[in-house]
Amino acid sequence: MGSPWNQYNTDNALAETIKPLDPEEFRRQGHLVIDFLADYYKNVEKYPVRSQVEPGYLKKRMPESAPHDPEPIEEILRDVQKDIVPGITHWQSPNYYAYFPSSGSIAGFLGEMLSTGFNIVGFNWMSSPAATELESIVMEWLGKMLKLPVEFLFSGGGGGVLQGTTCEAILCTLVAARDQMLKKIGRDNLKKLVVYGSDQTHSALQKAAQIAGISPINFRAIKTTKENAFGLTAEAFRATVGSDIESGLVPLFLCATIGTTSSTAVDQLSPLCEVAKEYGIWVHVDAAYAGSVFICPEFRHLLDGVENANSFSFNAHKWFLTTLDCCCLWVKDPSALVEALSTYPEYLRNKASETNQVVDYKDWQITLSRRFRSLKLWLVLRSYGVNNLRKFLRGHVKMAQNFEGLIGMDKRFEVVVPRNFATVCFRITPVEICRKHQKVSMEEAANNFNAKLLEFINESGKIYMTHAVIGGIYVMRFAVGASLTENRHVSLAWKVVQEHASTLLMAP
Ligand SMILES: *Cc1c(COP(=O)(O)O)cnc(C)c1O
Repeated sequence: MGSPWNQYNTDNALAETIKPLDPEEFRRQGHLVIDFLADYYKNVEKYPVRSQVEPGYLKKRMPESAPHDPEPIEEILRDVQKDIVPGITHWQSPNYYAYFPSSGSIAGFLGEMLSTGFNIVGFNWMSSPAATELESIVMEWLGKMLKLPVEFLFSGGGGGVLQGTTCEAILCTLVAARDQMLKKIGRDNLKKLVVYGSDQTHSALQKAAQIAGISPINFRAIKTTKENAFGLTAEAFRATVGSDIESGLVPLFLCATIGTTSSTAVDQLSPLCEVAKEYGIWVHVDAAYAGSVFICPEFRHLLDGVENANSFSFNAHKWFLTTLDCCCLWVKDPSALVEALSTYPEYLRNKASETNQVVDYKDWQITLSRRFRSLKLWLVLRSYGVNNLRKFLRGHVKMAQNFEGLIGMDKRFEVVVPRNFATVCFRITPVEICRKHQKVSMEEAANNFNAKLLEFINESGKIYMTHAVIGGIYVMRFAVGASLTENRHVSLAWKVVQEHASTLLMAP
């Protein structure tokens, strides 16, 4: 007291005032937040699905600077409701059909909460043995559920790791493949390496190639066609690889997609892998969206050929009841990842790592620090069980089938590409538009009209869909997968589409 220093020496005062980890305050405030979220889920259907705010909306509602003094959680939650919720696009709404789903669940949420609650930083085994060991076990369980070849499992010399997102999984496997190849042909050959995907491959591959130092002129987005349902064919791949070899380049990496983002197209995995094997090309199988459904035996054949791939990943945070972020990646040769990604600074040295008794997941990913992600996946698997997870996925496929059936009964509409999973790509037909506009270019008129229709529907806030352009055709994508969606929502969605189409078709 009295000394000027004392007014800054807040040791005890801090603990007394904000109590950052006081158990009873945690209990009280935590319950308030859970209640808040329970009410959110109860009322989520009342909000416009796509947020209707204008850019910069929040700045107008917020103070210029952070508060100097503490504010109570009750007041903060009131502001979340008043200011934040309007700026949220409600991915958990049953009327959400945009992009791909982000299917939340109680188990996923609670697992996330446990993980955040322990708040460990699990870079290596020693930093929290349970985090590493549970992750390996859960990835083994999941690999078996997907009937992945044993070479991808720890029990067969491979192994699984949880990454944040597919972008990271592709980057990590690409640098593993790159370094493995450069070790063979010499590090000064980087500019000869070629990366392959199709024109439907997710932009994650291009980003990974950019980061990995692949020359932009050696990035191949091989053209797909409507005849092959926009899947990459082995013939097209072989032809491209052949011409690259003739030019003195070195084919390195193929990202094959099972369930593309635009239209859920499926690349011809088996024959693609055979071509890749001939030329020593690393194959990564990206099943970010569709991967979950391969726990259902009736879909598993679409993954045939994976036994000849090098790595496989899918996002449990898309269609598997697990909260963002949770990308599941398996590799046949973990040492390729480790050689490209490991560092071993003095402060991390420990006996378990040194004696090679443990996995240090920091060497399987980009970042050093890592979250305890396996808890949420473990809770999802245990809380629901394989049977219910299958039912959940099949339920969505059935709802998408129903939607397709409804489209089939209205001659103004058409399904543009075959539905493979629970996503339907459809549009108003050019014939219908031309009846209205008598435009010269039917396809162009159809594209413009369908874009206008989609915006008109989304503006209503009743449902939310997004679009894709596939082979020059603008389609609306109806991606079923939100955890709260039931058949009645799908029927309602179809009514919303029909009514908006009728209004727009009748407009002068
Ligand atoms: C969603 C998606 C991605 C990107 O996933 P992130 O986890 O957001 O990086 C990549 N590939 C496919 C096929 C996807 O559907």
